[in-house]
Amino acid sequence: MTTTPPSSLSAQPGPAPAPQPLPLRRLTVTAVRPVTPRMVRVTLGDPSLAEVSLAGPDRQVKLYFPRLGQPEPVLPAPDPDGDVMRWYAAYSAIPEERRPWMRSYTLRSHDPAAATVDVDFLLHGGDGGGDGPATRWARGARVGDVLGMFGPSDHFAPPVDPGTGDWALLVADACALPALATLVAALPPGHRALAYVQVADAAEEQPLPTAGRLTVRWLHSDASPEDAVRAAAFPAGRPYAWLAGEAATVRALRRHLVEERGFDRRAVDFAGYWRRKLTQDDSPTEEDLAEARERLALRDGQ
Ligand SMILES: Cc1cc2nc3c(=O)[nH]c(=O)nc-3n(C[C@H](O)[C@H](O)[C@H](O)COP(=O)(O)OP(=O)(O)OC[C@H]3O[C@@H](n4cnc5c(N)ncnc54)[C@H](O)[C@@H]3O)c2cc1C
Repeated sequence: MTTTPPSSLSAQPGPAPAPQPLPLRRLTVTAVRPVTPRMVRVTLGDPSLAEVSLAGPDRQVKLYFPRLGQPEPVLPAPDPDGDVMRWYAAYSAIPEERRPWMRSYTLRSHDPAAATVDVDFLLHGGDGGGDGPATRWARGARVGDVLGMFGPSDHFAPPVDPGTGDWALLVADACALPALATLVAALPPGHRALAYVQVADAAEEQPLPTAGRLTVRWLHSDASPEDAVRAAAFPAGRPYAWLAGEAATVRALRRHLVEERGFDRRAVDFAGYWRRKLTQDDSPTEEDLAEARERLALRDGQ
């Protein structure tokens, strides 16, 4: 999720907008079940989830996980003026030894009647360095455990529409499969889509219900999404692309689509979900910063 303030260009004279509540919730685990050997679905509940509509494609959230020894995460105190932009300052103000781990995840589904959301956690095993705190938490998650959730918020992750264009190219690795499933579910009836999904093996493949006309190519283990996309023959018409997964792979894919296959860069949504040998706490690299700048420029229509 990006942290740019909302544009002030559209500001009109008139009454000040009502303060927005900080979309921060304390959620309790109500169910845990395996989806595949390496994917666990955690259902999280709170009465406030009955009052909102959080369904839709690619709804991104920040989850707050307790530090070792804490029964539940210390959550940022909502600012009294309810300014949604102050969430990071409130988080950073928590002393480091008590500050919860914060990681990005996707709402797999929302059930307002039950006042719950589902989040699918890939048990990734690390990139040579072992599980991080989010994955450790997910491996041991039990009914009654507590997490914090910030978002989803259109300020940080504008809504995406996989039905833009004449057809859609969707590329994901295993940790982006939950998000890809929500995009596929949002395809308009009969809309053509081609998905490349990289998972460890056949046991990690999941059904992807859709009203669209979807072709899925499952890539196993070390099969390269970039090689697969390079070799692909695309349908005719104006494409929309959505790319998510390991950051360097996403960058290479995007370059290929824009520079070699003629995709309009404004029609390519892309996000690095994780970085080799780096955790989500590590500082952004130069490439991460360049990518963030470009995403903002595209959003502002430059
Ligand atoms: C917008 C967004 C949405 C996301 N949605 C989901 C989701 O719905 N489900 C989901 O499972 N993940 C999702 N992710 C990815 C998830 O945030 C990262 O995998 C995150 O690093 C996990 O945190 P951690 O504490 O387990 O590992 P970290 O502490 O961040 O990293 C520990 C080690 O694990 C490695 N690592 C991290 N992720 C992976 C991976 N996927 N595969 C292999 N090695 C890895 C790192 O390189 C590092 O060496 C999303 C990411 C973003 C940006």
